[in-house]
Amino acid sequence: MNVIMLGPPGSGKGTQSVFIARKMGLTPLSTGAIFRKNIAEKTELGKLAESYIADGKLVPDEVTVNLVKDSVKGTDGVILDGFPRTVAQAEALETFLKVDKVVYLDVEFDALLKRLTGRRECRKCGAPTHISLGFTSCPQCGGELIQRADDTEEVITKRFTEYEKATSPLVEFYSKKGNLVRIEAKGSIEEITEKIFEALEK
Ligand SMILES: [Zn+2]
Repeated sequence: MNVIMLGPPGSGKGTQSVFIARKMGLTPLSTGAIFRKNIAEKTELGKLAESYIADGKLVPDEVTVNLVKDSVKGTDGVILDGFPRTVAQAEALETFLKVDKVVYLDVEFDALLKRLTGRRECRKCGAPTHISLGFTSCPQCGGELIQRADDTEEVITKRFTEYEKATSPLVEFYSKKGNLVRIEAKGSIEEITEKIFEALEK
């Protein structure tokens, strides 16, 4: 079975991909990991992608598509996280992979905002925590807790809006094909994993 995971940044999509992959014996493939692996192994496509990144440019669709194509070769079922991002990429994907299910993690913006703006990490050891847990210093080492620069309301709102704008055509594309599964991403990580698992088993 081949699965695509869609969901806004901060929805826990990456974590869920890994959990579901383990549970169902699938290979989790995130575009980030694909890029890192190919760059580290100095493959032709990796070197090409790196040249764009080094210039501060976006990696062209064709390069990304070919990297994904190489990565799914020889696998027996994958979960794609971070690809496709556009309908053009989705159409390219159709030519080399049979997509069985597309999981769309539906998250309410308010909940997402609360979760992300409340994140803190230790300046010293990097341990993550959340203001809702009530710590005033790092629970691991007592270090000072800081907020990441991109965890502000402004940045999160911008990322979410951009994501929705980019993803709605994809959601529509897969809805029409009839393989979109909408999951209300509410509750604990384990509860959401269970919901996705049930939907995929159907
Ligand atoms: Zn610490």
